[in-house]
Amino acid sequence: MTGTLPRVVLHPKKERSLLQRHPWVFSGAIRSIDQGVSEGDWVEVIGSDGRFLGAGHFHEGSIKVRLLSFHPTVGEQQFWNERILAAYHLRERLGLTRSKQTTAYRLVHGEGDELPGLIIDIYGDTAVVQCHSWGMYRALDQITEALIGCYGERLTTIFDKSADTLERQTERKVDNRFLKGDRTATTIEENGVRFHVNWVEGQKTGFFLDQRENRELIRTYAHERDVLNTFSYSGGFSMYAGLAGARSVVSVDSSKKAIEACNRNAELNGLQQHTSSCSDVFDFLKNLSEQQYDLIVLDPPAFAKHLSSVENAMIGYRNLNTEGFRRIKSGGILFTFSCSQVMDKLLFRKVVFQAALQARRTVRILHQLSQGPDHPINVYHPEGEYLKGLVLYVS
Ligand code: SAH
Repeated sequence: MTGTLPRVVLHPKKERSLLQRHPWVFSGAIRSIDQGVSEGDWVEVIGSDGRFLGAGHFHEGSIKVRLLSFHPTVGEQQFWNERILAAYHLRERLGLTRSKQTTAYRLVHGEGDELPGLIIDIYGDTAVVQCHSWGMYRALDQITEALIGCYGERLTTIFDKSADTLERQTERKVDNRFLKGDRTATTIEENGVRFHVNWVEGQKTGFFLDQRENRELIRTYAHERDVLNTFSYSGGFSMYAGLAGARSVVSVDSSKKAIEACNRNAELNGLQQHTSSCSDVFDFLKNLSEQQYDLIVLDPPAFAKHLSSVENAMIGYRNLNTEGFRRIKSGGILFTFSCSQVMDKLLFRKVVFQAALQARRTVRILHQLSQGPDHPINVYHPEGEYLKGLVLYVS
């Protein structure tokens, strides 16, 4: 492939991050771009001294190239086959590919699997693909072929969910479409807990798989407790808490569809003690009395998507956590999360500390949580550590 690709040449001294295998090339690092290069093309990145640094997808925007390879040797279909297979082998190593207890997992996690811009989630016999870049979108046929090569008959449906991500970035039309089969939903098991997942109607690819291990942890603390699960989506934490024998479980989400999914899952798991409320979490919390719950989960969507909005996001997280702390009984537990990539672990902890202070509670950290191992973090791309969680003992 190399030698025939258009070239992106860097300014002097701008090759350092690529030599350290960080997969992004920012616009400021670039001296010249060959004529005719367009969105999503494969390009070669060349240092100012003429040496080959890597190859990847070209994009308009502040990140101009997302590197897919640091070697010049890959041929196209073979490249996709190898990368998807490598991702599969990792999940196999995690015991996820043949598990009866857990039938859903993330197969490809962008930079974590050396495939920046690509997400693939597996729900039973369905793969849901979500492209976050046009380069990936243009490779969908090859990605589909690689998936079929890897799973064979075990995959009956492959669904492309890129319309949600790509159309938001540009005006260009992307079809929500079936690349194979026609299933729209299924019932998965996660650690033996059942969830109905609909990838056509649901948020993201249909389910938030990154919280699997953290949901498992809630079992330890939920028995005979009154549990409040805020930003519940389809009730992930609620189902685990209910099955662990919580006295009561309340799920709160502002999305009507999420609450419908939540109620359906409660029925699927035979929960008697579950109720739900379709409301804004901030309003819901305001209407509660102090120290009402034994266990509260706060798992909001990303308040900050860019560095420029971090300060406002910090205020949002602080206020939310303050309200949360106020509603917890003495001796209670708070599971609190942030999935903003731009807010790092230390910043998040600082915000939680400020909230504890504002609510005048004594707080101890019991667990420090992150995303599950099927959302691996590439050591050369520390930004990939996006999910942060703390389990706190509040007295
Ligand atoms: N904890 C969930 C995932 C949460 S995703 C799980 O384990 O699956 C975040 C959720 O917050 C989404 O379902 C979204 O609909 C909801 N949401 C966003 N803003 C909200 C608000 N202000 N009040 C209530 N819910 C909100």
